Amino acid sequence: MKKNLIDFPRSKFWLVNCKKCKQNQIIFNKASTVVKCLNCGAELAVPTGGKVELKDSKLVRELS
Ligand SMILES: [Zn+2]
Repeated sequence: MKKNLIDFPRSKFWLVNCKKCKQNQIIFNKASTVVKCLNCGAELAVPTGGKVELKDSKLVRELS
């Protein structure tokens, strides 16, 4: 059986690219708080109750 990094089903880490400063950052797709860019402070993703919604960022790829 494949061992996941974390225990929750369907939880993933996403590599996203900040639209403002073009820096890549890894975020948790079930974060419960706003995820901010560590470089410029833009709001990369906002929580929606389940998954986060990307705001000032775009998804580069999912990390398994
Ligand atoms: Zn940024």
